[in-house]
Amino acid sequence: MLVLQPVMGLIRLSMKNEKDLNRIAAIERAIAKKYGKEAIQNPRANWDEEKEKEYLKQLKELAQKERRTQEASEKVLVNGVLVSKKLLNKEPIGSCPVCNKYTRKVGDDIAMAKYDCCNDCYIKWVEHREERWLGGWRPNEGNIKTDS
Ligand SMILES: [Zn+2]
Repeated sequence: MLVLQPVMGLIRLSMKNEKDLNRIAAIERAIAKKYGKEAIQNPRANWDEEKEKEYLKQLKELAQKERRTQEASEKVLVNGVLVSKKLLNKEPIGSCPVCNKYTRKVGDDIAMAKYDCCNDCYIKWVEHREERWLGGWRPNEGNIKTDS
């Protein structure tokens, strides 16, 4: 494992927060577990090209994961609304607070982000009456058909 120290040091420098450091530590532990104590005690004898290749592969995967996490916190413009990419990728978001249906369809995530309801409810209750909706108006329970 001694041979890894300079590499790990560089990665640590490029990581920003505690979460990242924890992730690195977890990878270090996983590697130690996989290759055993020999890798730590006598790296030259046991650390062959194959192991190094796999180690580098894990580093690459970590970097990709890192990028994905970063992308998830970015926001994208959808129909003039800033929606978190994380929200768009996540599905189903959950049930619609208005009709209690689970939201899975395209458009639900956007309606949910903007109006806190599914796309069906948006079409039924919000569209062309956005001001009323945003002012807090909600349909009576008796008016909501959940079987449609
Ligand atoms: Zn709904």
